[in-house]
Amino acid sequence: MTMVHDPYEEAKKQLRQTIELLGLGEEVYEVLSVPERLLQVRLPVKMDDGTVKVFIAWRSQHNSALGPYKGGVRYHPETNAHEVIALSMWMTWKNSLAGLPYGGGKGGIRVDPHKLSPGELERLSKAYFEAISDIVGPDQDIPAPDVYTNPQVMAWFLDAYSRVKRGQYLAVVTGKPLELGGMQTRIIATGYGTAVSAREVAKKLWGGIEGKTVAVQGYGNAGYYAAKTLHEMGAKVVAISDSKGGIYNPDGLDPDEVKKVKNETGSVINYPKAVKKLTNEELLELEVDVLVPAAIENVITEANADKIKAKLIVEAANGPTTPEAEAILTKKGIIVVPDILANAGGVIMSHIEWVNNRMGGWITEEEAKSRLEQKMINNTIKVWDYWQKKLDTSKYNMRAAAYAIAVDRVVRAMKLRGWI
Ligand code: NAD
Repeated sequence: MTMVHDPYEEAKKQLRQTIELLGLGEEVYEVLSVPERLLQVRLPVKMDDGTVKVFIAWRSQHNSALGPYKGGVRYHPETNAHEVIALSMWMTWKNSLAGLPYGGGKGGIRVDPHKLSPGELERLSKAYFEAISDIVGPDQDIPAPDVYTNPQVMAWFLDAYSRVKRGQYLAVVTGKPLELGGMQTRIIATGYGTAVSAREVAKKLWGGIEGKTVAVQGYGNAGYYAAKTLHEMGAKVVAISDSKGGIYNPDGLDPDEVKKVKNETGSVINYPKAVKKLTNEELLELEVDVLVPAAIENVITEANADKIKAKLIVEAANGPTTPEAEAILTKKGIIVVPDILANAGGVIMSHIEWVNNRMGGWITEEEAKSRLEQKMINNTIKVWDYWQKKLDTSKYNMRAAAYAIAVDRVVRAMKLRGWI
């Protein structure tokens, strides 16, 4: 059966292009295009009514040249081995680009978590972590939340691991509840980091982000904190959307007020101070300075890339721009700050949480936030400089630079270890 959209094929294509750009040999492609280890487990779980349901789950460990594998676990009815492998490869690049001492990993359970009771979800989560407990650990592989998993699921993972290993290992997962060694700053980290990255590129382009107009697609964790931080930085957030549609006000929207309305009524579209309602398609094509896709993948495609008027796209979501669309945007001179750079705030903060756990709880929230900001600034400037100095910017976008830096660091580590 051929799959219409296979993220693993896309991930391999990106790797192939980067290897060509860096002039590396075929053996590098062969080593990096396949995960070091892919574990599949089947999980029989007792349902509340006494029946047993069987779930299939995976953990993919893509590359450990830079350190223990790191990456989230998603619960989704359509997740599959190829998706998990692709996501683990992207984590290798994200962690490498961020300068973290981590390789890339990702996990997934094929399940619709909304159809399970809290008790069923707890049994499933603990069964999964017990089944993968031989290959995870604070120095082996450190999972975290992803789609439809949260701090509560991390607490169940931690408990399952503690029982199997008969000890307390807080640093085996990140994104934990505060009571179990988590950090407050983890909640804002992704969106906050996206805003910092946007500000740094805006400084290069316009001298600053102040007064620049911004449209944000998706108003969950990443979108809300990106909008809130950009607003606090002096940018004007003129459009916001969620899955039900969007709102527009050329004089600017107040991100906190919009969030309150979404919490109370279920959607941003009920915000009373909007001048106009928008579809999600219209939001993407608005005349704004900065566009922040923060919802789902593949929203900027060949079909609409030509109609995008923003000068800067900052990818809070994973994979919102297709490669075909990016070629069109590059030709138009539109700059794309890629996902592996712009949404790395989450994993950077996870690293701080992991370090903090290993130090017995030493770092203050203030220190954590300032470290996160500094790392996002450094990483953005590193990618910008590489792009400007080493690549033909009329042919390549910032993504090519980000991938080149990320793959190069992994390749150098593999060479030092004698793997290639
Ligand atoms: P979330 O579930 O908190 O929010 C998702 C938002 O997108 C919701 O407001 C939802 O209404 C909206 N949405 C869903 N479908 C939509 C559609 N078709 N059109 C417009 N809006 C739609 O999720 P999140 O954690 O904010 O993640 C959003 C994106 O950011 C994902 O691509 C995720 O992989 C990426 N990301 C998140 C984190 C993190 O730490 N939260 C880290 C890295 C990357």
